[in-house]
Amino acid sequence: MPRDWSRHFAPRAARMGASEIRELLKLLDQPDIISFAGGIPDPALFPREPLAAAFARVLGDPARAAAALQYSVSEGYRPLREWLANYMAGLGVACTPDNILITNGSQQALDFLGKLCIGPGDGVLVAAPTYLGALQAFNCYEPRYETLPGPESNRLHAGAGEGGGAPKFAYVMPEFQNPTGTTLDRRARAAVLDLAEALDLLVIEDAAYEKLRYDGEREPSLLQLAIERAGHIDEARVVYCGTFSKTIVPALRIGWAVAARPIIQKLVLIKQASDLHSATLNQMVMHEVAAELIEPHALEIRAAYRARRDAMLRALARHMPPGVDWTRPEGGMFIWVTLPVHLDGARLLERAVREARIAFVPGEAFFADRSRRNHLRLSFSLADPATIEEGIERLGRLLRAA
Ligand code: PMP
Repeated sequence: MPRDWSRHFAPRAARMGASEIRELLKLLDQPDIISFAGGIPDPALFPREPLAAAFARVLGDPARAAAALQYSVSEGYRPLREWLANYMAGLGVACTPDNILITNGSQQALDFLGKLCIGPGDGVLVAAPTYLGALQAFNCYEPRYETLPGPESNRLHAGAGEGGGAPKFAYVMPEFQNPTGTTLDRRARAAVLDLAEALDLLVIEDAAYEKLRYDGEREPSLLQLAIERAGHIDEARVVYCGTFSKTIVPALRIGWAVAARPIIQKLVLIKQASDLHSATLNQMVMHEVAAELIEPHALEIRAAYRARRDAMLRALARHMPPGVDWTRPEGGMFIWVTLPVHLDGARLLERAVREARIAFVPGEAFFADRSRRNHLRLSFSLADPATIEEGIERLGRLLRAA
């Protein structure tokens, strides 16, 4: 009998399962497969030279190098937090550096917020579907998931109490949601804040794709709206999670959380206990690169991703059989496809890889209760428009035969 390791682990470890789909997708690194699976930025768009120059500048100056290579404060590199306070002001969020914590990517902010807020069995409101990585982060703290009601639902104020106790927070991606690509309009944003007020919840605003807007008008962030309601950020019930992963590079692992000071102060203590601080060198380099080129670089990557989104939407219109529907995102990296209910995305993936040499992520993993199987998430961030056309044509052929 193989040894049962689980008795050495805390009960929460039972909730930490590798997803079969992720395991399958790891095998897909073969050159003849057209993959719409990974939701990652295109490395050809990384600002390699400005990054190399910034590393050289920081490390080439003995005084700056000494600081860059040393331990530093858990809150994060002060000039970067000052720059971010200014950047957030440009987004309509009045805050100070003391409202900001630098994290190792926004993924770490999600983990820390789970650690701060969720006790075993506590309710958490998430959209169905929602970002798989957030579910993985929160799962470690053993929540009970409830579905975040939409603005037209009359369950809006009834969410509490159904499964015991009011939920602790709502986790929301207002822009270009992963996996659907959809964006909350002003009314839906107000409804989230109304719900949070009615149930006395925090709101976690995941703004990972915020800067990747290709058309349409930007709406105010939930944090901005909450500050308008509360009068001051230190009274606002929204925690905003930002990241440079999609706009500059993911590898330096620099994200940030913006919130009322009492929340940030707790997160700083969690950061200290977890990893002391984010890499000082990376924070200093990101500060230089972001200050120098975030706006021009965002323009460049938006142009590239917009062309790919357009290519995918055109190809879907051309090649999908009747009965298949999909979202038309204004930004981000994803299109969400809804298949006829009898089709199962995970089974289709097996055939897609074997017969059509294409890949995508089956939708099931994005539902906290895994209840729906007839969806696919397609990412358009990595393939060029001609490859997208070819891959979607193959998907269409597969679906016609399914
Ligand atoms: N939120 C969303 C919605 C994401 O898609 C991702 C990355 N895939 C993250 C957060 C985490 O990104 P990072 O830790 O690199 O900031």
